[in-house]
Amino acid sequence: MTMTGECLCGAVKFEAEDVETHYHACHCDTCRHWSGPAMAVAVGKVTFQGEENIKAYQSSEWAERGFCQECGTHLFYRLKETGQTIVWVGAFDDKSPFKLSGEIYVDSKPDGYAFQGDHPRLTQREFLESIGAIVET
Ligand SMILES: [Zn+2]
Ligand SMILES: [Zn+2]
Repeated sequence: MTMTGECLCGAVKFEAEDVETHYHACHCDTCRHWSGPAMAVAVGKVTFQGEENIKAYQSSEWAERGFCQECGTHLFYRLKETGQTIVWVGAFDDKSPFKLSGEIYVDSKPDGYAFQGDHPRLTQREFLESIGAIVET
């Protein structure tokens, strides 16, 4: 599926191909600090217009987070090694195809809110184990 989107002010527009319509919400400390729980979907390929208005912040050794430097809209999370890009659900023009299919880092979620639905809710440890990362205890 090919879908379009833009930031709040329109300085950055994008076209995403092979959009995965099932998204995860991440409650990790970095996401919550940046934007609240991150609701983002994997895309096969994304092409930006107005790329000069995108600022990328290196949020970890392995990933960066892109936003519009005019209006601050959160646009993407990108793995530096593979270039895999995860686009923020809220930046798409049409959000109707998207369905929440899981939450990760639920042990970091504050008590004040919760997403409804009967989907998997993984703690940090469970998530890291599911992707094969080594966890220190
Ligand atoms: Zn903008
Ligand atoms: Zn996160």
